[in-house]
Amino acid sequence: MSNYVGRFAPSPTGPLHFGSLVSALASFLDARHQRGTWLLRIEDLDPPRESVDAPSIIVQQLLAHGLRWDGDILYQHTRLPDYAFCVNTLLKSQHAYPCDCTRKKIAAVYSGTCRDKPRDAITDPYAYRLRIDNEQVGIDDRCLGAVSWDGAADVGDFIIKRKDGLFAYQLAVVVDDHFQGVTDIVRGADLLDSTPRQICLAFKLGYPQPRYLHHPLVFGDDGDKLSKQTHAAPVDLLNPTLNLRRALTFLGQPPVPDSIADVQGLLAQAVQNWQVALIPKSRV
Ligand SMILES: [Zn+2]
Repeated sequence: MSNYVGRFAPSPTGPLHFGSLVSALASFLDARHQRGTWLLRIEDLDPPRESVDAPSIIVQQLLAHGLRWDGDILYQHTRLPDYAFCVNTLLKSQHAYPCDCTRKKIAAVYSGTCRDKPRDAITDPYAYRLRIDNEQVGIDDRCLGAVSWDGAADVGDFIIKRKDGLFAYQLAVVVDDHFQGVTDIVRGADLLDSTPRQICLAFKLGYPQPRYLHHPLVFGDDGDKLSKQTHAAPVDLLNPTLNLRRALTFLGQPPVPDSIADVQGLLAQAVQNWQVALIPKSRV
């Protein structure tokens, strides 16, 4: 075992589609190729958007494709006290502040209206935002190379706890990646926009910055990225080797000989063959 720790972290809004299988496979292969640990985290933070059956379907889909994780599944709904603790830490260190702005007043990058509002001028309901100044944020993405952002222009003060009391996705991801000792984040390029937010948050919480690999997204025949919102077809359980072969092709990896007909044999070969340099580079 190396000290590499990777993870797959789906939101249980529905079953995995081909695009999410690609993400799961990429993070699995990268972890196993480096003899690392691969964790599964279910990001069930937003019950109204989720499906009750999705976690068990996702688990079934992963197991049917031989993508077995290490240790127990971490469910984010069990982690609320830790998120609350971290929000408090950020408030105490003045890295966060309450904001009662309504959505229609807010541009894409928040202007910081509530930054210096006196506490008693804030009315219910309010959110908490992270304070972002002229911070330069950059990564050396293992697929895309150098990517950088300007804190003030590209990120702005963003929400870490919502008005409705739910913790924001960005906060939960960062707190849990640190809690689980994640060293390597392998995920789709649709999450590249979240990366500077997560890096700023990790920095303010005193966490080390993980390594990143953003792989290209899978688009459907209609030109839209596959997503649960557009009702992309669930990955079927009947043809796991075929699905895995398609995912390997998408990731630019060498084909596994047809003579290998079982999932475990196919994955073993794919782990051995895994080469990040072969993944197509795309920021979407
Ligand atoms: Zn505000």
